[in-house]
Amino acid sequence: MKKVSIISFFVVITSLIFVLFINDQMLPNSEFTNETQPSPKAENNQTEKTEPPPIKEPKEVTTYASLMAVGDILIHARVYNVAAIGSQQYDFKPMLENVKPFLEKGDITIANQETMIGGSALGVSTYPRFNSPYEVGNALKDAGVDLVTIANNHTLDRGEKAIMNALDHWDSIGMAYTGSYRSEEDRSDLRLLEKNGIEFSFLSYTYGTNGIPVPESKPYLVNLIDADQIKTEVEKAKKLSDVVVLSLHFGNEYERLPNEQQKFLANEAASAGADIIIGHHPHVLQPPEWITWPDGKKTFVIYSLGNFLSGQRGNYKDIGGIVKIGVQKVVKGEQETITVQDPAFLPTWVDRSYLIHPMYQLKDKQNHYNEIKQHMSQWMPEIEFIESP
Ligand SMILES: [Zn+2]
Repeated sequence: MKKVSIISFFVVITSLIFVLFINDQMLPNSEFTNETQPSPKAENNQTEKTEPPPIKEPKEVTTYASLMAVGDILIHARVYNVAAIGSQQYDFKPMLENVKPFLEKGDITIANQETMIGGSALGVSTYPRFNSPYEVGNALKDAGVDLVTIANNHTLDRGEKAIMNALDHWDSIGMAYTGSYRSEEDRSDLRLLEKNGIEFSFLSYTYGTNGIPVPESKPYLVNLIDADQIKTEVEKAKKLSDVVVLSLHFGNEYERLPNEQQKFLANEAASAGADIIIGHHPHVLQPPEWITWPDGKKTFVIYSLGNFLSGQRGNYKDIGGIVKIGVQKVVKGEQETITVQDPAFLPTWVDRSYLIHPMYQLKDKQNHYNEIKQHMSQWMPEIEFIESP
């Protein structure tokens, strides 16, 4: 033991002497360097004192959130009759049960509620003048939907009363809505939803209202598409939020590719600052594409999300889907960069009992599923197809 202690002591002392020696060797050398090659800083001590401290690189903070969206929810009599559970009572939750695990995965999920939920007391009705039960809204809320877009060609079907009932119900269940409003004041209140430090704003417009005139004194009852107005409101929303999500109810029914007007409007909105553009109305899926800005920034546009839940059948009308888009926000000092990325899609199919199914799960629909995948990736080969919740 004693021997070990002595050795340890010797090792420590040797190391200490070595360190001191090295320091001794270094110091005169440094001094020598300074003396023979004085740096400009050393020469002028005053300058050194007044010079500002080196600027610290601001910390970079990155956050991420995903947005999910579904297309048209059109409650035909065929659909509400199946959902009926008693006199003026309905349950639409089973219809959404298979897609609920997917919808819940979005940080923010939005749906296009095409038919107004004016409630059964007003009398439910089907095409051409729809009025849907409140329970449709309850089922969407239960499935994880956070906001509904309600500027559609069926918004005015049953008049102001149905709209006000619907807005009351959305408010009562804590569901945000955009595109149709109670008043000018309600309309000017931009809808915002925040997730992971990323502020999303939501705007919604329709091409028309099936010939039913919008009351001149109440333009807030439904937002109509007007390129200049959309641009102004997108620009305003961009100043108040990180990400502008624009819903456009437009295009030709049953056409599987967007028309020139859709492309024009999407480009105008993108140039005004829209980050994500969600289209609907054609009742069939139209593919997504990127609109690239001159500075390289990209806007995601999907021209039509098809029918998510409706009584329409065949010729692609029973196919819809859930689109998922990621948003990355990078903040460095005063600078903020928003990037829309990671597009993904889940094709869905409505069966004859009006249950919505993820298409990948349907063994007898694989050919159809593959065709839809090809259709939806034709302008965006990198789009991912969701095959698990
Ligand atoms: Zn429509």
